Amino acid sequence: MFCYQCEQTAGGTGCTKVGVCGKDEDIQSLQDMLIFGLKGIAAYAYHARELGEKDEQVDAFMHEAMFATLTNVDFDLNRYLELVLKAGEMNLRVMEMLNNAHTSRFGNPAPATVPTGTKAGPGIVITGHDLLDLYELLKQTEGKGINVYTHGEMLPAHGYPEFRKFKHLVGNYGTAWQNQEKEFEDFSGAILVTTNCIMIPKDSYKDRLFTCGIAGASEVKHLKNRDFSEVIDKALSQPPLSENPQGTLSTGFHYTAVLGMADKIVEAVKAGKIRHFFFIGGCDGAKPGRNYFTELAEKVPDDCVILTAACGKYRLNARDYGDIDGIPRLIDTGQCNDCYSVIKIATALAEAFDCGVNDLPLSLVVSWYEQKAVAILLTLLHLGIKNIRLGPSMPAFISPNVLNVLVEKFSIKPIGNVDEDLAEMLS
Ligand code: SF4
Repeated sequence: MFCYQCEQTAGGTGCTKVGVCGKDEDIQSLQDMLIFGLKGIAAYAYHARELGEKDEQVDAFMHEAMFATLTNVDFDLNRYLELVLKAGEMNLRVMEMLNNAHTSRFGNPAPATVPTGTKAGPGIVITGHDLLDLYELLKQTEGKGINVYTHGEMLPAHGYPEFRKFKHLVGNYGTAWQNQEKEFEDFSGAILVTTNCIMIPKDSYKDRLFTCGIAGASEVKHLKNRDFSEVIDKALSQPPLSENPQGTLSTGFHYTAVLGMADKIVEAVKAGKIRHFFFIGGCDGAKPGRNYFTELAEKVPDDCVILTAACGKYRLNARDYGDIDGIPRLIDTGQCNDCYSVIKIATALAEAFDCGVNDLPLSLVVSWYEQKAVAILLTLLHLGIKNIRLGPSMPAFISPNVLNVLVEKFSIKPIGNVDEDLAEMLS
């Protein structure tokens, strides 16, 4: 690691200090955690700002926290722990802002059954998180004979009333970001990537892939100002897609929709018909070990309900989980930022049962990959939520001492054996 203070490799010849300019590995660990969290907060704040929502308090914190990562005058571990938890608080605020921005612009989502696969005719698949990009694309493709498909984190758009009005938003194609290479190669239409979770495109589809907003890739056309005419022209010039229906997925369980069933849920819990709630979701990725989440969901007993969010949902959402007295056993609350809905649901349940969230029959099993997942994890810690299981492995930037603190304060643990974990969570 290069040290910007003494301008040499940290710990190298002439470096008389430990680590980076005397920073020990625990401070380094907390600073890294903070920076990862800030990147996640910045992503949500960017989307919210694009939709007209901002908060001076969040901006001020971003400045303070970034500044704190370069100062070397105060190496107080507790101070950095406070900053890390404050980042969680700020992330809760930006997720709320983004939720408000989405619902005020596109309406409150309602449960939706979304066809998967493709329909005959020209098509555009849009991936990433930016719902405003999708909205503009739908407006610009209206009446042009192009079918638009969501991919990855765009799936939850189908729950919003304003998106349902577009008849040419025909369904969802594909799964999570790490499967792009295979899925985009097989999709003969045009492809639009709106945010950062993009694989380096293969030559086989590079010429029909476009980026916009914050996304970008070398040798790929980047579209500006939400002018999607080039992706539209490309879709019309490509061979039409074939009719290839593949089933359905459900989404759209915004907290307002779930809380609309609150009485039923409380009654089912009291009657012993719902034994336990699981949150299984978060960022997906290609790393081996992520099958844990699929296996866990499969083994969750029939008298339990699974909440999910983010692209980790594709590990488990292809299956029909049925319902308990009309309450779906799989509740997809939406994008990663819609963990806000999960928090609102958990808080409402705790109120209904007059207990704390940690006292609910609720277990959180979080799959993490990138910065937004770190920001969400910090939010859960800020809220004092304990016993979170994290996988497929612990983030490499967590030092042993910092991990000890997280274990002591929050009883955080890595995922392990599915059967043993499940038995422990149900006990
Ligand atoms: S949930 Fe995470 S990994 Fe998945 S697309 Fe969103 S940010 Fe990327």
